[in-house]
Amino acid sequence: MRTILSEAELQSGVEEMAGRITERYEGEPLTIVAVMTGSLVLLADVIRHLSMPVRVSLIQASSYRGGTESGDLWIRDDMMLDVSGRHVLVVDDIFDTGRTLEAVLKCIQDMAPASLASAVLLHKRERQVVDFEPDFVAFDIPDEFVVGYGLDYQDLYRNLPFLAVLDPEEIAQGAAT
Ligand code: 5GP
Ligand code: MG
Repeated sequence: MRTILSEAELQSGVEEMAGRITERYEGEPLTIVAVMTGSLVLLADVIRHLSMPVRVSLIQASSYRGGTESGDLWIRDDMMLDVSGRHVLVVDDIFDTGRTLEAVLKCIQDMAPASLASAVLLHKRERQVVDFEPDFVAFDIPDEFVVGYGLDYQDLYRNLPFLAVLDPEEIAQGAAT
């Protein structure tokens, strides 16, 4: 595999994004809704850089069926806190076509939050098909399939502390592990 963002680069990008989030909310209580499972590592890192009162809620969304191409999208919100009247920030791993975040935001908008914004670790601008931008982005990346720092290939590699592009052999091997 080829590293495209080192552990140190990820840490400083996440800290910098957390700084922008802190400025935006000016001490107001914030409910973070993390899109599982890809945002798990980002969630753990970003909340430790926030000093306002923070609540954490989880929502699950999936658009990949174990491969590197998008499939049907589903959302499960049975682990959600009641966010009505709260300032909500949705945190996800990557904004690729943007369809996942669009669907998640629509689902949460129906819960009548006081405000709703989104933060992503990664943005693949070349692939975007929706007409809105995430409010906070840590890194823009080219259109390559990446793993690590929470992002998986066939549920593997989420534990890597860096972000990498897999080699074709690793993609072929994934199914056999
Ligand atoms: P979108 O709906 O924006 O096209 O896709 C977003 C979701 O697809 C992300 O939350 C992530 O789970 C998955 N995804 C998109 N690009 C990549 C990638 O390069 N690597 C991995 N591991 N997942 C990706
Ligand atoms: Mg995801």
